[in-house]
Amino acid sequence: MSDENMMKDLVSLCKRRGFVFPASDIYGGINGFWDYGPLGVELKNNLRDLWWKWMVLCPPLGPEGTEYAGAPVSMVGLDSSIIQNPKTWEASGHVAGFTDPMVDCRETKLRYRADHLVVYSYLDSTFLFAFNKETSLEDVEKKIHKFAKKRGSENIRQIFELGDFTKVIISDELKDRKYNYHSLDKIVAPDTLEPGTLTEPRQFNLMLDTYPGVIRDEAHKAYLRPETAQGIFLNFKNVLDSSRVKIPFGIAQIGKAFRNEVTPRNFIYRSREFEQMEMEWFCHPSEAKLWRDFWFVERQKFWTAIGLAGENLQMRDHDKDELSHYAKAGYGTADIEYRFPFTAPGFGELEGIAHRCDFDLTQHQKISGQKLEYFDQERNERYIPHVIEPAAGLTRGVLALLAEAYTLDPNRPSGVYLNFHPAVAPKKAAILPLTAKEDHVPAAQKLYMALREDFAVDLDIKQNIGKRYARQDEIGTPYCFTIDDQTNADGTVTARERNTMAQERVSMDRAGEYLREKIKPAKG
Ligand code: ATP
Repeated sequence: MSDENMMKDLVSLCKRRGFVFPASDIYGGINGFWDYGPLGVELKNNLRDLWWKWMVLCPPLGPEGTEYAGAPVSMVGLDSSIIQNPKTWEASGHVAGFTDPMVDCRETKLRYRADHLVVYSYLDSTFLFAFNKETSLEDVEKKIHKFAKKRGSENIRQIFELGDFTKVIISDELKDRKYNYHSLDKIVAPDTLEPGTLTEPRQFNLMLDTYPGVIRDEAHKAYLRPETAQGIFLNFKNVLDSSRVKIPFGIAQIGKAFRNEVTPRNFIYRSREFEQMEMEWFCHPSEAKLWRDFWFVERQKFWTAIGLAGENLQMRDHDKDELSHYAKAGYGTADIEYRFPFTAPGFGELEGIAHRCDFDLTQHQKISGQKLEYFDQERNERYIPHVIEPAAGLTRGVLALLAEAYTLDPNRPSGVYLNFHPAVAPKKAAILPLTAKEDHVPAAQKLYMALREDFAVDLDIKQNIGKRYARQDEIGTPYCFTIDDQTNADGTVTARERNTMAQERVSMDRAGEYLREKIKPAKG
């Protein structure tokens, strides 16, 4: 199956089985917003809770070979407000600089992120072709051939990639070349066959604004946070004054963020409302590299332990020209990337680990006039700590888990199953009486009541057993316990494992223990 079809099937499974629905579905949806259904919210909460456990409740042991080895690192949690004093976003640089270059197509009225467009051409052509960077080479070739045919030219010897649209359009270096590549009237937009329909790139601020209170003018404008991180910096002093943390330590937070994305797309990958899991690690500047490397490894371990293993996960250091203003002076940013079906064979960002230096605290100190320095008693030194930030997308993580889990299997009635790691699966087990008869149902209810305190379990009584197995396969339930005639005789049930469909008899009294052993995520 092509990646494109797989994505279509996954989106349709998500709706059919209650993982993710378009927001405001009955009104035709609203671009860039999604609702999480009965199973989607369980999956998202499981990922959220695992992150919280790994970072806050049970943080990793400090780096080997250092004074921090052998003891858990110091971490506390926070839940800050979505709307903060608007000065926050001036200080952080978001008001001035949180922008994306945007271009419009005059003909189709479609809008594109200029830095997400790639430009192609072919020999003997003065025309250039812009495509979204996820477009396959096959589709690029198809369109260029169509264009050439329409213009009566069949002479396509070689199609070549010129690179990033913004660079091709703006770069002075290219302006000087004989091809005059910067000329917009030679460019064919992604969804037309006519050249010259794209506008110049314009900077577009991604923050959504609102007006708390009764007065709706510029002076009263506030913003929905575009990242959870700033709430942490604003509370740095409060946390220091109210808890007993000492540097190095981290503050972790999970919550909603909002970005007025120019082109929300690829299902929940890029939406306008989403959730982030961010942690700011405050340390002495001389230890920034140590902690950056440490968190980079720890964060990879996390994603691997909950099921994103192997070749679909990739670690990548940012190139110099991709670095944010604050990261330029430091040890840079590295991404943990996942091969999503729509980025394949390429990868898309899942989490970034950035060295933010002392940028944010210094800015907030300057704009608020409040001292945000730290006095380090051991070093007898006063300084603004450096920050290492692992910033992950919770909702983007949900998509990675869904894509990784999606497995075709012609040998089972559902044709597909979700191969979730048991720790993230929305339901850990289903309890299925073989028939709806009196002799199977009471035992099933008893087992359900015994397990539901400790596990998310499903009691499913109606329909034939094959259909019920198929449903559980499609929602990724790792185990099914079936109650049959033998249950009444010897107190055992059939335990069916999702992936292999192998069955074994397990004593009803041991079912809880059996699940507990199976659903633990591997640590480290
Ligand atoms: P991108 O380059 O994909 O726009 P970013 O580099 O702007 O992402 P960060 O600001 O580093 O992203 O945010 C941290 C994480 O938040 C990202 O790794 C991603 O998982 C998630 N994220 C960012 N923007 C969105 C969005 N519009 N929808 C869903 N998740 C997002």
